[in-house]
Amino acid sequence: MDGWTGQFLRVDLTSRTHRVETFTEEFAYRWIGGRGFAVKILYDELPPRIDPLGPENKLIVAVGPISGIPAPNTGKTVVAAKSPLTGGYGDGNLGTRVTDQLRKAGYDAIIIEGRAAQPTILSIDDDTVEFLPADEIWGTGTMATNEWIWARYGKGAGVLTIGQAGENMVHYATVRSLEGRSGGRPGMGAVMGSKLLKAIVVRGSKPIPQAFPAKMKELGRDDLREVHRIDKELAWSVQGTTGVLPWCNEVAALPVHNFRGTHHPDAWQVDGERVNLARAALYGCPNCTMRCGIAVLDDEGRESEVDYEPVGLLGPNLDLFNLPEVASLNFLCDDYGLDTICAGGVLGFYADAIERGATQGDIRFGEVDGFKRLLGLIARREGIGDLLANGTRAAARAFGHGSEDYAMQVKGMEISAYNCKFIPGMALAFGVSPIGAHHKESWIITYEVNQTPRESYGRDKAQKIVDLQRIRGGLFESIITCRFPWVELGWGVEHYPVYFNTITGKDWTLEDFWPISDRIYAVMKLFWLREFPDTDRYADYPPAAWFDPANADTEGIIAGKHLEYDKYDSLLQHYYDIRGYDRRGIPTRTTLEQLGLGAEAAAAEAWATLT
Ligand code: SF4
Repeated sequence: MDGWTGQFLRVDLTSRTHRVETFTEEFAYRWIGGRGFAVKILYDELPPRIDPLGPENKLIVAVGPISGIPAPNTGKTVVAAKSPLTGGYGDGNLGTRVTDQLRKAGYDAIIIEGRAAQPTILSIDDDTVEFLPADEIWGTGTMATNEWIWARYGKGAGVLTIGQAGENMVHYATVRSLEGRSGGRPGMGAVMGSKLLKAIVVRGSKPIPQAFPAKMKELGRDDLREVHRIDKELAWSVQGTTGVLPWCNEVAALPVHNFRGTHHPDAWQVDGERVNLARAALYGCPNCTMRCGIAVLDDEGRESEVDYEPVGLLGPNLDLFNLPEVASLNFLCDDYGLDTICAGGVLGFYADAIERGATQGDIRFGEVDGFKRLLGLIARREGIGDLLANGTRAAARAFGHGSEDYAMQVKGMEISAYNCKFIPGMALAFGVSPIGAHHKESWIITYEVNQTPRESYGRDKAQKIVDLQRIRGGLFESIITCRFPWVELGWGVEHYPVYFNTITGKDWTLEDFWPISDRIYAVMKLFWLREFPDTDRYADYPPAAWFDPANADTEGIIAGKHLEYDKYDSLLQHYYDIRGYDRRGIPTRTTLEQLGLGAEAAAAEAWATLT
């Protein structure tokens, strides 16, 4: 089948067995790959309301039709499972050589089931699947784990690992790659750890099935060069994602002091210019000519690869403006295998809860040593770290005293580094992200602040969010590509059907992908409904702090401004209307049938009511 290997590898860690399964062309074109494959498999195979950290959960490692093909930024793989952080469907993507090695081994996805009896490395070498002991590296951080694996397998293998946070099932533990990338914010590392799976090593030697391989090779080579040329011209990679920090500070969108503030005069000390000046090394994902992994040295002289999100949340959000100190928190998160965004949100919330008297403790904003210590407690689930390992929502429920109002999360996932006190569209984007408050689904913020009346709650913003979700969360997450050429360099989205067609032999246009994107979003919502039959529209609301007049800035460009409940609710309703969802935010039966999900609709009615 051109475009896909047509095979899944199903692995049972309990019985230490595996089997190869085939899928049909119809399945491939209905779900495309990556997130599409993952959500369909998990929705079909997981019983309702299982423990996400029990052996019944399944970890999916999936690639897409353009994954691993030498073309701009195609080195990403999706990891997915039922999320321990949100309780719904969870996933994430990361740059790794697993992407091309898995396809060369002959698989479009690995479905990992059960739980190993002891710490295990899953080794896949073409048709050979082995379950190897991981005792030597169990308990080690991802840096030491990578060194150990490098020494045995060399740099050519595709490798995914977890650190201590994954082993101890911290609900926001990520999966890490040998290339130093992280993915799976909703606790995909915890699911891997719950299965006693320390690492996945993949090597393959077969050709990737393509309709026109020579044409794709030429096209990919030319486009990689062109993306590189544009990047050099625009100099985006000079600062990478950290280049957005001054803009966030200027427009009052930076998280400061657990999102209480939106800007800070010292923010320049951790901005992209300072990151570039401190640059010690540069890293990137496979098949990428705009490498954005800028490493700086932390306060202990260790290389730490920083992006805007971790800098924002481990820096200004904690009142820290010393780059090496911020880099040290970032290093610890990466080494423990903690998601930096969630970790920054949790640390900020805990310091805030102490400051406001909701709980007691010795963590203070601006004191890096306390935060370093706390990250260790979280990764090992010791002391207060055991509660904080479950995220801000769980901690707020335990602390009480109104702390849920300033727990900066949606659906249990901590908000990325954009303070939306007065940015309604981006607040909605966080609210309706089906995996929790992730910016990757719909990054409307620059468009909204720069090109629309910021105070507007108009339908156009809801439409823009749907448009962005279709591209970012649907198209990009299923064919699987990094969004940055498109977001940062203006690399046209129309390039992707060209790659898809050259690989599959089809003649699709962009419009052919939108129903598939909508189908994927609809199933993510059905997954949510199955887990939470009493769900309502308030699951799609951002935290109360953003609506609170007492939390409004007292000076600056948005002084006195805050989100308004009734207007937010009408913006949310616009989103539901455009999507064909009911007042709870669930696709209607008609919508499901239009998306070819009649069977899924019928199954859904066994546990909940559709409208
Ligand atoms: Fe990876 Fe950055 Fe390149 Fe995207 S731009 S593929 S995240 S290195």
